[in-house]
Amino acid sequence: MALFSKKDKYIRINPNRSLREKPQAKPEVPDELFSQCPGCKHTIYQKDLGSERICPRCSYTFRISAQERLALTIDMGTFTEMFTGLETKDPLNFPGYRQKLESVRARTGLDEAVVTGTARIHGQKVALGIMDSNFIMASMGTVVGEKITCLFEYATQEQLPVVLFTASGGARMQEGIMSLMQMAKISSAVQRHSKEGLFYLTILTDPTTGGVTASFAMEGDIILAEPQSLVGFAGRRVIENTVRENLPDDFQKAEFLLEHGFVDAIVGRRDLPSTIAGLVAFHGGEKA
Ligand SMILES: [Zn+2]
Repeated sequence: MALFSKKDKYIRINPNRSLREKPQAKPEVPDELFSQCPGCKHTIYQKDLGSERICPRCSYTFRISAQERLALTIDMGTFTEMFTGLETKDPLNFPGYRQKLESVRARTGLDEAVVTGTARIHGQKVALGIMDSNFIMASMGTVVGEKITCLFEYATQEQLPVVLFTASGGARMQEGIMSLMQMAKISSAVQRHSKEGLFYLTILTDPTTGGVTASFAMEGDIILAEPQSLVGFAGRRVIENTVRENLPDDFQKAEFLLEHGFVDAIVGRRDLPSTIAGLVAFHGGEKA
């Protein structure tokens, strides 16, 4: 049984569709005058957040859409979107799932919870994936799994480094066991990419949890994280109830993970493009 239908060619490169010019996604922060910062709880004037959406008081980085991430990260006009046109076959026939997908697509302007393609970052050509938590909390279903696998296979074939911004609430429950299988599928593609001596960089953004953390998010050669991002596998309450202990306040925060060796560095949003480009260049960049 096929898990998704391919409406179009296997690889569809559509340079006319510019995500940058389609800011239909509902921003994490509503377009109001003020918003409360989840980091310091202060009321912040929207304009003070700037396009990077960083709290001027505590440097908390607000969640942003894939379109906003693209605009902040890549060299203008260099993004070519790939692996679009895939659609889940809804393997469990889950009630209301198809309608939910349709409404999320209309609201976000995305076809799924990850955007994939190639781009240049400070001149370095990379295969790029950006997960967007506005799309069903960037949960990982069969299409997300296929798009990321295709990205790695393309990068292996074209000898490109992979840069992946992760965000996820975990596996997509509407696709049941099929979602969990994506962990092994993507990990296999990551390994084939790695065996070619190619570089894989992950940037953990808020929130990266569940099966995504348990697989490809933690398989990067270098793992960066945005400040104060929530990164974990099971939820805090589940763990507390299981081990019957109170966990520290910063448990599952990027800073806690850095201290315990799970993350290589925490990099502020403004410094990410230059840091990514530097790391890619240091590891040989585009090999072709
Ligand atoms: Zn703040």
